[in-house]
Amino acid sequence: MPVPMLDDFLAYTLAGTRPGAEEKQGTCAGGVRWSWLDDGVLQLEPTAPEKAARSVLASAGVHGDETAPIELLSHLVRDIAQGSAALTCRLLVILGNVDAMRDACRYRDDDLNRLFSGRHAQVPNSHEAPRAAALERAATQFFAAASAERGARWHIDMHTAIRASAFEQFALLPHTGMPFSHAMFEWLGEARISAVLLHTTKGNTYSHFTAQACGAEACTLELGKVRPFGENDLTRFAGADEALRHLLAGTHGTKGDAKAALPRAFTVIDQITKHSDAFELRVAADVPNFTPFVKGTVLACDGDYRYVVRHDEERIVFPNATVKPGLRAGLMVVETTQDTLSSLV
Ligand SMILES: [Zn+2]
Repeated sequence: MPVPMLDDFLAYTLAGTRPGAEEKQGTCAGGVRWSWLDDGVLQLEPTAPEKAARSVLASAGVHGDETAPIELLSHLVRDIAQGSAALTCRLLVILGNVDAMRDACRYRDDDLNRLFSGRHAQVPNSHEAPRAAALERAATQFFAAASAERGARWHIDMHTAIRASAFEQFALLPHTGMPFSHAMFEWLGEARISAVLLHTTKGNTYSHFTAQACGAEACTLELGKVRPFGENDLTRFAGADEALRHLLAGTHGTKGDAKAALPRAFTVIDQITKHSDAFELRVAADVPNFTPFVKGTVLACDGDYRYVVRHDEERIVFPNATVKPGLRAGLMVVETTQDTLSSLV
């Protein structure tokens, strides 16, 4: 029997519909069991998952206006429910900032993707604080029942970027102190992600939370530019979509095709900091992410503070001169592909 919630999970969620007590779970095609857990939170699992089956958290809409990956996830739910997409592992689908999705904005009070790992407790009156706490609980509960075997826990958090990028699709990997995994790099390659940014300090993103607190192989994907619902050319996101479907079907890495190239790696070496309102960022307002600059280039000034490029080449990521004084106005990275790929475990 068709379940309207599963046929269009996005529309169901945007409408604010909540299932009655009798309608919170059921079985769909192929014996997949589904459970509605919260607004925008849906768990799906095969009737008899293999013992060491993967547990995959797939999230989108942590920024409410990043519509394309939200639509992809909603289509994925529909295809699993109808039996046209295979599911051999546990799956938790999360549409992140539902209220912001309804308003077609990034967030209402605070960037949800800066409130994880407990930071929501510091802004209790923020509209986003309860949602950050709820999404932390959802992830914790989901992974509590997951296999502890290495590589069994995955979190793919899908975003679209505001600005252009020298690498159109890239990923950010959280810093937990653990080495980066070969399986993740291979999966990113299969998803046609051409560059990976490696953080070197702890963050407050959702993928950082699941990596640190839940032991997940976690990544944040930046999949091209933001557009309104229905206006996305979803074929541009086919690489990530197919790779996610392979991961869920258990066919990831076993196709026998020529392996996709691993992404290039870039490690954060510094940040540009805005100290005062006199801050001046000396790059074009629309400079693409990962634009390279040569040694000696002055990228920012603010009173006595200067940011001068020290390496032969440094690239700027997420420049933003409009942040509040004291905050980060840009990340600086250098290429570390060789060292990174040779140290994957
Ligand atoms: Zn985003």
